[in-house]
Amino acid sequence: MQLQTEIEHLFSTQQKEWDQLRSAVRQLDDMKTKTFSWDDQLHVNVQFNPARSALMEASPQRENKPGVCCLCEPNRPAQQRGIPFLDKYIILCNPFPILRNHLTIPLFSHVPQRMGKKIRDMLTLAEQLPDYVVFYNGPDSGASIADHFHLQAGRKMPVLLQGDHELRSCLTIESENKNEVEELFDDVLHYLKGRQPEKEEPMMNVITYMDKNSYRVQVFPRRAHRPSCYYMEGKEKILVSPGAIDMAGCIITVREEDFDKIEKQHIIEIFTQVSLPVI
Ligand SMILES: [Zn+2]
Repeated sequence: MQLQTEIEHLFSTQQKEWDQLRSAVRQLDDMKTKTFSWDDQLHVNVQFNPARSALMEASPQRENKPGVCCLCEPNRPAQQRGIPFLDKYIILCNPFPILRNHLTIPLFSHVPQRMGKKIRDMLTLAEQLPDYVVFYNGPDSGASIADHFHLQAGRKMPVLLQGDHELRSCLTIESENKNEVEELFDDVLHYLKGRQPEKEEPMMNVITYMDKNSYRVQVFPRRAHRPSCYYMEGKEKILVSPGAIDMAGCIITVREEDFDKIEKQHIIEIFTQVSLPVI
């Protein structure tokens, strides 16, 4: 069976047997959104997604032992079942979705969130999921669990595929040749390491997807984990903690007051503060 079909089956059976997932998927259907546009070149959706609240306010978990990590198999919810991938990952339905068919894809083993050579795994997954984006959040760039490697994926939306814009940096790699994409990605990583030599891995978000027969990789280099409005108090505060989906063009808010008040100027400030300018 094709992997996309298997995932459709997984979602429909998991929604029957797992109340939390069923209600989360329903909430996604009714979620409030609004859209801002910069001419016709960039559109940014803002989503009000209160279920993400606990994840957004958490510090990235770094010191989890395998005994308590929620991505390690023995600690996952009893109802959660998955589909093995490449003999080292398990594809799971995410019970806190921001996209349709939102998937969390942890490695079996409890190892830190580091890209290393795993771009190839992302491309292989994107190849098998032509209707999806596959994405990676670096440990200081939106990942809420930083000590157990995981990818995510979800149904494509046009707003996620927009690429570079003066509001925030996005380095795009495109080729029909997987090896070439890998090599170019290594070059990008090498350049970004030079920009942030003090980091174990340059701060970044990565989105991969298929555009007909071409692999596309979009790298969003980062200079800050969160914008200053995240740390403000009172009326100035907006709880936004950007990951790949936010950087691409779908900003997640978890408090209704933030959703109501966020305007174009806030979005410009958020992107300016967290995106690393590249030449
Ligand atoms: Zn783990």
